[in-house]
Amino acid sequence: MGNYKPRKRLEANQYIDGVLKGDRVLLSRAITIVESNLASDKVLAKEIIQSILPSSGNSLRIGITGVPGVGKSTFIEVFGKHLIEQGHKVAILSIDPSSQRSKGSILGDKTRMEELANREEAYIRPSASGDTLGGVANKTGETMLLCEAAGYDIILIETVGVGQSETAVHGMTDFFLLLMLSGAGDELQGIKKGIMEMADMLVINKADGDNIQKSQIAKRQYENALHIFPQSASGWTPVVTTASALKNIGIPEVWDKMMEFKKLVHGNGYFEKNRREQQIQWMYNNIHEDLKQLFYGSDHIAEHLDILEKDIIEDKISPVKAAEKIIEEFKSSL
Ligand code: GDP
Repeated sequence: MGNYKPRKRLEANQYIDGVLKGDRVLLSRAITIVESNLASDKVLAKEIIQSILPSSGNSLRIGITGVPGVGKSTFIEVFGKHLIEQGHKVAILSIDPSSQRSKGSILGDKTRMEELANREEAYIRPSASGDTLGGVANKTGETMLLCEAAGYDIILIETVGVGQSETAVHGMTDFFLLLMLSGAGDELQGIKKGIMEMADMLVINKADGDNIQKSQIAKRQYENALHIFPQSASGWTPVVTTASALKNIGIPEVWDKMMEFKKLVHGNGYFEKNRREQQIQWMYNNIHEDLKQLFYGSDHIAEHLDILEKDIIEDKISPVKAAEKIIEEFKSSL
């Protein structure tokens, strides 16, 4: 960070009013503050989030995952347009801990979702950058609240199906959609069983041309595979469908299923219960990140860590003893 000076900030109220009015420029600037690591911005971000909180939450939060190339951006483009046609406002966020804007991330490609990006009813924000998944996820969670307060009633959170980020997305969404391909075993697609188990819906994409028959076979295979998982706490039985994002086939059906899900979980109380549990988990995620920041952000601790690293290399201290020593040092500095 060094001597980096942020762009001039407005008063908290200006961001809050702007977000609540649905002003996209102020929404973007508020998100930038939420994503910032500057201490002064963190204070401002907390004030903004606290004020908009009562206006947030009124949305359906949908997680979308699948390996690179499965067709996520193509799908989100047509799905997003379908939602807009139904009168919704859609915010598209992504979690990609590998993202560093300057280097360009997997999800940060500007040509993605071009049509949707030009629609007034859609708001697209690439992944926050950060060193830890927890940090990135917390920022995306707050960005989601800001988007809801700005009037977006459908939130799509996209992630690449190659790491731990699916669990983070599942932990902050109401419905989890997994995009798959036919003709490839799940090992090939890098989709772990645990991820399939989280899915409320599997959509086999690219069911077009020569792929139609293979997609039908894959659909049955996945339906069988899903049967072996225990009944989900929501009371919902996961569904498998086929679609072609490219040819815009099967997209309204995906939305219809989500509406069915929504009706079920609102009726049986799971929606509210799940959101409450997610909030508790979110508190712990914030505690973990804040503690890490408190510890590793301290110059005093950093100096001691340098010394301990050398001592370990020179066999002067064991790693376990070194850890104990630095924690003692930290406790006495509080
Ligand atoms: P992402 O990496 O998951 O976001 O995937 P993209 O949306 O960028 O799609 C990867 C490639 O698959 C692109 O060349 C798309 O045109 C193509 N693609 C996406 N959806 C379909 C589909 O439904 N059918 C076919 N045939 N190709 C598709």
